[in-house]
Amino acid sequence: MTESLKGISGSMFAGKTETLLREISRAEISKKKVQVFKPIIDDRWGEKDKVRSHSGGEHQACAVKNAVDILECLDTDTQVVAIEEIQFFGPEIVSVVQALLEADIRVIFAGLSQDFRGEPFGSMPTLLALCDEIEKPTAICTEEVDGKICGADASKTQRLINGQPANFNDPIVLIGDEDEGYQARCPKHHKVPGKPIPKI
Ligand SMILES: [Zn+2]
Repeated sequence: MTESLKGISGSMFAGKTETLLREISRAEISKKKVQVFKPIIDDRWGEKDKVRSHSGGEHQACAVKNAVDILECLDTDTQVVAIEEIQFFGPEIVSVVQALLEADIRVIFAGLSQDFRGEPFGSMPTLLALCDEIEKPTAICTEEVDGKICGADASKTQRLINGQPANFNDPIVLIGDEDEGYQARCPKHHKVPGKPIPKI
């Protein structure tokens, strides 16, 4: 018997972490033993042992360098594993998640479905394909058009460098980057200079 897999995916500022925290809370209310993991790369809040949402919610988390470390840090009585920022783990995260499910451990993860270029992020396509349930919260597009905020559902993450859209060829992950360099955008207002147009 295997347990179920739930994915929470979306752009930055969509409330993915808040959704994950709600899932953790629900599992804990039902007296399940929960362990929370995050990749060590995510140090934007300067606290490596917590998962924190933009709205201030938080939960203790174990920060690990590699996906396989999740199995090593696993307590024998854990029933639910929650993984934050899963897109930053290497490809071995897929086998790790499958091993957890086979061990009858429910897995819930949150991750960016697309990088700032609008391309699929890391192992997210495979992980989402394996999910029994997917929740896709959206942010609000904050692009200003004629002095007004667009306000449409935002599924994209816009990276800005000195206020200008970042180029397609810029690195996908900038360590120590600030959230201020990113905005949520709808597909119409997501700009990636230098992005190749797919040839059919
Ligand atoms: Zn927009």
